[in-house]
Amino acid sequence: MSQQFDVLVIGAGPGGYIAAIRAAQLGFKVACIERWRNPKGDRVLGGTCLNVGCIPSKALLASSEHFESVQSHLDVHGISVKSASMDVSKMLGRKDQIVGKMTKGIEYLFKKNKITWLKGHGKFVGRQADRFAVDVFENGPEDGDAKDRVEATKVIIATGSKARHLAGIQVDQEYICDNEGALQFDTVPKRLGIIGSGVIGLELGSVWRRLGAEVTILEALPDFLAAADQAVAKEAWKLFTKQGLSIQLGAKVDSVAIEGKGKAKQVVMHYSDPKGEAKTLEVDRLIVSVGRQPLTEGLGLEAVGIETDQRGFIPVDAHCATSVEGIYAIGDVVRGPMLAHKAEDEGVMVAEIMAGQKPHIDYQCIPWVIYTSPEIAWVGRTEQELQKEGRAFKTGQFPFAANGRALGMDAADGFVKMICDKDTDEILGVHIVAAAASDLIAEAALAMEFKASAEDVARVCHPHPSLSEVMREAALAATENRALNL
Ligand code: FAD
Ligand code: NAD
Repeated sequence: MSQQFDVLVIGAGPGGYIAAIRAAQLGFKVACIERWRNPKGDRVLGGTCLNVGCIPSKALLASSEHFESVQSHLDVHGISVKSASMDVSKMLGRKDQIVGKMTKGIEYLFKKNKITWLKGHGKFVGRQADRFAVDVFENGPEDGDAKDRVEATKVIIATGSKARHLAGIQVDQEYICDNEGALQFDTVPKRLGIIGSGVIGLELGSVWRRLGAEVTILEALPDFLAAADQAVAKEAWKLFTKQGLSIQLGAKVDSVAIEGKGKAKQVVMHYSDPKGEAKTLEVDRLIVSVGRQPLTEGLGLEAVGIETDQRGFIPVDAHCATSVEGIYAIGDVVRGPMLAHKAEDEGVMVAEIMAGQKPHIDYQCIPWVIYTSPEIAWVGRTEQELQKEGRAFKTGQFPFAANGRALGMDAADGFVKMICDKDTDEILGVHIVAAAASDLIAEAALAMEFKASAEDVARVCHPHPSLSEVMREAALAATENRALNL
């Protein structure tokens, strides 16, 4: 007899585990199938985000930022440090400890909310009356026999994504790595190559550069950070290249091979620059960070009649319902930004819809953050997008160099740019380059969720001295060009 549940979640990344918790809070009998094993072979919850994504990368970013700060940024405070050294294995150990704490935390939350964790790979078998049947395999369908069969009236697919690899480039996670290998380098590579100057390229490139690697990034597009507002992209380019990241735009990678033996092993890359000139780049390690793709392999979607789109995503409506009533899909496996907080919000929304509530996500209000130094964050539309739409807008910008707290923190790089509707003053987008942009952007997201105008933000009392005053000044600048401190 199969185990019966009200709600079955497949995948326990930030989308799946949050959906499971919210569904349990709402009184459903919930199970979640998750197959992930950590490098020790233990089953763990948390998916990409906790195991090989957001959490470990931010731990390394923090360690490397401290290392760089001790070496280069304390002198202005009158602090001199004779020498600093980095114990990479200790840094990795700290990161693994944080990951372990977080994944155990989700186990605790599952127990607290009486969610059954089915350890293994889930595959749809089909539908019987109003219930979907899903087999659970120890490793995957290649096992032959399933170890369990479960049935549920509602299923949430939250199977996430995996790193996209390039044809002809064999990722071995030692010399040529995706995000998984790049979070595990046991020594600082002297020369690090990166393909793709997107979020992972910039974040992990920053980590290893701060620890001493010479970093060269090859980017196919002619524009840097094409999805960001161009004022932000321009400022970020200036700052990152000054920090020592070497970024070749418009690069076409022709071949990548591991050459040499023993200690002389290296990665040799042949590429052409925008003029078509052939170039060679020799590096000790290479990170391939050219985007991620949705993960539905071995999920048995055909058994319930769901077809993926051309790019492999599960098609869903604005409320994450698939073409099959009772089956929802959320997170990286569906359209929209591949971000943990977007996956979480979709998980909450779907659970509440199942309970008869009427939640809604405004996808324009989902913030983006790149955790470089300074950080980059934005929410809403860019100036280029509004120009394309032909919408009349006005902008206000304020630099951190004119903010007392930023100067005190030695964090005066960057600015806040606010874009508003020309007539109604409604905030349409906020773009930040700053030390604490990841926290500052939350105010902008809140304002936009409430359809606030720039004047609304400008009239809110902000603490002094604080970086948040720059948000208010940008709002004042956008309102009637009346910033007070510039
Ligand atoms: P995932 O986290 O990918 O989880 C899916 C889970 O489903 C996995 O655990 C997988 O094992 C499981 N699964 C898949 N198929 C099956 C099956 N058939 N049976 C059982 N289990 C299955 N986002 C941010 O918002 N902020 C960041 O700072 C950030 N940093 C990142 C850094 C890196 C290096 C990477 C790679 C990503 C980062 N992301 C970040 C993106 C973020 O990790 C993803 O958007 C997020 O994890 C998506 O959540 P998800 O639940 O949809 O999928
Ligand atoms: P990305 O989409 O951010 O960037 C990929 C880059 O690779 C792009 O600039 C693209 O033009 C370039 N590219 C693609 N093919 C190429 C080729 N053949 N040669 C050279 N360049 C090429 O992808 P990513 O950095 O791999 O990250 C994947 C996703 O993970 C992100 O889009 C994001 O959704 C998520 N993520 C988020 C965060 C965060 O929120 N801070 C951090 C890391 C990852």
